[in-house]
Amino acid sequence: MKRPKYIFVVGGVMSGVGKGIATSSVSKVLQAKGYKVTAVKVDPYINVDAGTMNPTEHGEVFVLTDGDETDQDMGNYERFLDTTLSRTNYMTTGRVYQTVINKERNLEYGGRNVEVVPDIPLEVIRRINEAAKKEKADIVVTEVGGTVGEYQNILFLEAVRMLQSKYPDDVAVVLVSYLPVPKKVGEMKTKPTQYASRTLNSAGVQADLIVARAEKPLDRKRKEKISVACNVNPEDVISAPDCDSIYDIPLNFNKDHIGENLLKKLGLRNRPTNLRAWEARLKKAKAARKEVKIAMVGKYFNSGEYVLTDVYISVIEALKSAAFREGAKLSIDWLSSELYEKSPSKLKELKKYDGVIVPGGFGKRGIEGKIKVVEFVRKNKIPYFGLCYGMQIAVIEFARNVLGLKDANTVEINEKAKHPVIGMMPEQIELMKQNEYGGTMRLGSYPAVLKKGTIARNAYKKVEVAERHRHRYEVNPEYIAELEDGGLVFSGTSPDKRLMEIAELPKKDHPFFVGTQFHPEFQSSFLNPHPLFSGFIEAALKQKRKR
Ligand code: GLN
Repeated sequence: MKRPKYIFVVGGVMSGVGKGIATSSVSKVLQAKGYKVTAVKVDPYINVDAGTMNPTEHGEVFVLTDGDETDQDMGNYERFLDTTLSRTNYMTTGRVYQTVINKERNLEYGGRNVEVVPDIPLEVIRRINEAAKKEKADIVVTEVGGTVGEYQNILFLEAVRMLQSKYPDDVAVVLVSYLPVPKKVGEMKTKPTQYASRTLNSAGVQADLIVARAEKPLDRKRKEKISVACNVNPEDVISAPDCDSIYDIPLNFNKDHIGENLLKKLGLRNRPTNLRAWEARLKKAKAARKEVKIAMVGKYFNSGEYVLTDVYISVIEALKSAAFREGAKLSIDWLSSELYEKSPSKLKELKKYDGVIVPGGFGKRGIEGKIKVVEFVRKNKIPYFGLCYGMQIAVIEFARNVLGLKDANTVEINEKAKHPVIGMMPEQIELMKQNEYGGTMRLGSYPAVLKKGTIARNAYKKVEVAERHRHRYEVNPEYIAELEDGGLVFSGTSPDKRLMEIAELPKKDHPFFVGTQFHPEFQSSFLNPHPLFSGFIEAALKQKRKR
């Protein structure tokens, strides 16, 4: 195979300035120019994957079809590129070291001394090449996690340096930087960017293009300053001011010729950019006036004094994309489920929402509050969408309050529950005995068969679907018949009918009450919102008219 072209995206000054979105947007523009593009994320932590990290620390764990538990940026790449990536596109320091150590144990280094440099960066490069090959990519865009200057990602920068010096015409480096405007000074400052660029130089890497993130657009003067100090052409300093929507960014980048400039650097031909469908959807979204009000009930919201919504980023984007398609404006309120445990009288405030979502979750904290929420929305016929834990909770609520099985529960909370309506999968019981926690849940894509005449089947307009999972527990087969007799419909099951994948109430009883054992939010993109999210938003819009 021909060698791909490489683009690396590195971050300077500070984290959280949108390196992931910049990577996704650069990739999108090049894809819209007719190139086959794939995106890779390298994360500096020792964890082999993101699966064992606390969500409040790491943000969302994004699950790929092949079951890899990855960083939320992988979700951005998939949503922007409208594609499905695999574990080859994701690596961490831990994963890279693990491979090198395993290879050493297998004598794959032929008895020589295996060293941090060059063997670790070489393994990074090997993985990037493998991803490019697997995706048959002309261009592979790799986002280097962390910020330049920190110790942790130095070996990744070393990989960039090695590639850049070996194939100078095939490598382009994008530095995503930040320009603060200190209040007292009132002027946009370029110095931190200059330092970041020099720090990158001290790792032996020269940026070809600088994405200058700031609250406001960059003026000519600052562009020139950065150009001189950081050794890049003035037209390669791209102004990236804060904007209303992340989906504006590919369009803004394209206006600033980012694709053209990178292609030139890589010796590839420029082609017209086709972002018509993207632009049209965004226009519709911006013209939307009617608001749809959704309540998200969870527990991972609070981080110190801040509300952390990153944990549910794919759910938010799936809701947004579905609302955009309906020409509606989405508003989300973050409600902490523990509130309803302390003050159940607050439940009636849920009436002001057009729909309620209980997303995925783990553990005991806040679960009784969630059960109360589900009872309220079921009885008051407010559209409900439960994702994974949200589906399990709906089943528990139904068992308790409709079937009268008072202490129905999931064994995740109470191993000795008299009615364990949510039980543990047999293969999981073994793994738990051996303390095998990392990467051992039911992960990745599995098929489900849909029942005729149900909300799910009508939404998907298909008989069989494949959806992504991440869970240890499931509806206990011993209670299926009783739950069905009571009126709960399992509208999606595994093809062998062993696992219940979707639970819903018939449309005659409730406008939209659907829970999925899988995570539909992982397969929703900006241009192609997930059918169940669309169904939920449609139901919410109907509810709004009633309200
Ligand atoms: N805690 C539940 C389980 O493991 C649900 C997981 C989730 O919501 N992703 O089955």
